[in-house]
Amino acid sequence: MRKIQMVDLGGQYQGIKEQVNDAIATIMETSAFINGPEVHAFQKDLETYLGVQHVIPCANGTDALQIAMMGLGLQPGDEVITADFTFAATVEVIALLQLTPVLVDVYPDTFNIDIAAIERAITPKTKAIVPVHLFGQCADMDAIMALAKKHDLFVIEDNAQAIGANYTSKNGTKQKAGAIGHVGATSFFPSKNLGAYGDGGAIFTNDDALAHTLRGIVNHGMYERYHHDVVGVNSRLDSIQAAVLRAKLPKLDEYCNKRREAARKYSKAFAGQPHIVVPKTVNGCEGICDSCDCHVFHQYTLKITNGKRDALVKHLGEKGIPCGVYYPIPLHRQKAYRDERYREADFSVTNELSQQVLSLPMHTELDDEQIGYITATVIGFLNE
Ligand SMILES: *Cc1c(COP(=O)(O)O)cnc(C)c1O
Repeated sequence: MRKIQMVDLGGQYQGIKEQVNDAIATIMETSAFINGPEVHAFQKDLETYLGVQHVIPCANGTDALQIAMMGLGLQPGDEVITADFTFAATVEVIALLQLTPVLVDVYPDTFNIDIAAIERAITPKTKAIVPVHLFGQCADMDAIMALAKKHDLFVIEDNAQAIGANYTSKNGTKQKAGAIGHVGATSFFPSKNLGAYGDGGAIFTNDDALAHTLRGIVNHGMYERYHHDVVGVNSRLDSIQAAVLRAKLPKLDEYCNKRREAARKYSKAFAGQPHIVVPKTVNGCEGICDSCDCHVFHQYTLKITNGKRDALVKHLGEKGIPCGVYYPIPLHRQKAYRDERYREADFSVTNELSQQVLSLPMHTELDDEQIGYITATVIGFLNE
């Protein structure tokens, strides 16, 4: 059996080696390392793929979130509601801009932000909601957009983990994750579903005026050379990364399908296990159906309900199976983000998830032998 990896970027590279190497070689020949034609071409390709009017490439996903918030004109003291159960980058940029992060609990089955909890957290100071499409599946965007409309709030989608996922509204419209809110932000960190070979990120919007503002902010607040109209940042996607991403984008749907296939195999093997809860997919498909396109499984995350999660992590390590706990400490308990307004009772789901979640190896190169070994090892340990 091939060595099992949490993410197998080397294996994936073998399948696209020629395209990627050629694309990189072209950049080397032209020396257009920054803002070259490849960046523009990738921007156009991604606009088409996502069905959005504007993609603004930038240096990483964290910058994408920060620049989105800057572009919307959020001011110090404005409250921004986001999920307690996410990667720290989401809340970090809110705090960095001196906005007030307001963390709320998530649902125990989809791991995504709880709509009733958002509603309870809205105050006259609330200006935006940042849903995080955690592990590869959209938050309840119908409900979030309705709340935003009712309370006149911006919606900034943290789409770092869900690029390629589809969201079907109750009225039947299908949209790409990240293209639904006022603005979306994504990451091309190598292990993300559309990963560069270095850092990268992008912001999406259908708002022409906002897109214009964002394009200036990423470039030192310049709209005209050496005229700085607003305080900006330096956040660029470099041409080599754009060339890699442009070679990989046509494969994204195939990559998503491979992840779903692996997820289906995992979930079938774990069906009926008393101490395991498999991830739930939404949008009309309960469980892992064969035609599911709503979940792109950035992570395949189980809940281990018998209190043996940490022992299982250790056991898997000994058996040569890497795994991850995303996320072991809720953000409201992190030193940097504590706030006296938080009550533990308001975070019962996140607190429990932090004790139960376990993410198994998930990538485009998993084979049946590896999945069989992983599932048998997990089941064997939990039934010991
Ligand atoms: C990866 C990630 C980010 C940050 O992306 P970087 O490119 O690493 O800056 C933000 N939010 C979430 C949910 C992520 O998973």
